[in-house]
Amino acid sequence: MTNLFVDFQNQVEVIKVRCADGEITEAERDATLRKMQLKDEWGDIWMLSPTGEWFRQASGSKEWVRDHPIAIIDPSTLPPVSEMNLPQIARAVHDCARCPLAQQGRSRAVPGEGNPKADIMLIGEGPGFHEDKQGRPFVGASGKFLNELLNEAGYKRQDVFITNVIKCRPPNNRDPEPEELEACKPYLDRQIELINPKVIVTLGRFSMYRFFPGASITKIHGQPQRMGNRLVVPMFHPAAALHQVRWRPLIIEDFRRLPQFVAEMTIVRKSEKSNSSDPEQMSLF
Ligand code: SF4
Repeated sequence: MTNLFVDFQNQVEVIKVRCADGEITEAERDATLRKMQLKDEWGDIWMLSPTGEWFRQASGSKEWVRDHPIAIIDPSTLPPVSEMNLPQIARAVHDCARCPLAQQGRSRAVPGEGNPKADIMLIGEGPGFHEDKQGRPFVGASGKFLNELLNEAGYKRQDVFITNVIKCRPPNNRDPEPEELEACKPYLDRQIELINPKVIVTLGRFSMYRFFPGASITKIHGQPQRMGNRLVVPMFHPAAALHQVRWRPLIIEDFRRLPQFVAEMTIVRKSEKSNSSDPEQMSLF
């Protein structure tokens, strides 16, 4: 394998592990990485698990989250967004300058994180202050509440994939502009395509508008709509539910129905798969 490298900057030393043109094998590289915890330029700590998955502990956090270390990808090797894998999207988002938000004070872009094979994908609006600092979606008070909501539904945060419609923080948390949403859209489109979740939960106005243009959350929250081979469920944004106490029981109730939505789509997908592989069924069409 060529062009794979790790170049994490540690305050003490720069660790370089190269796997190119026979320098070391991929197995040797992974064995080396498993023995060390690597610190990146933001002070986040990275670890490669025995199963080959990367985990990140953001600076100032005690939580380990599954993530993609962008430093192991050489940016010059990136394909078009429509052909990227999840780590490549994280790398591209990190360096992205497709819209003005790249120049408007972002500390860190926030590509998203979580289970790459998640049944449930949660899509928020965009990074806020804490997200921008940590490079992670839904941290701070709304993230804590989101974790509680997931627990209510029987899930852990690492079971789902969490991202936003816009990957960089708009200054002072202003609404994203239409051209910014449009510029960022290919990343989310590709993430949805790759993860192929059974259920998408929209959290917030701009996420909801992507699937339900012009809708009102108070009218449609918690009502799943079939779109292709998945259900899309609009829900209140956790931050809004934290501020508007009357919405709190509604969002809790909506989250509790998530396992039911996943179960429904599991049955639908199974039956569609068996129909498409059943020659007798196929001959009916
Ligand atoms: S918001 Fe999206 S399109 Fe704009 S710079 Fe960030 S990653 Fe790129």
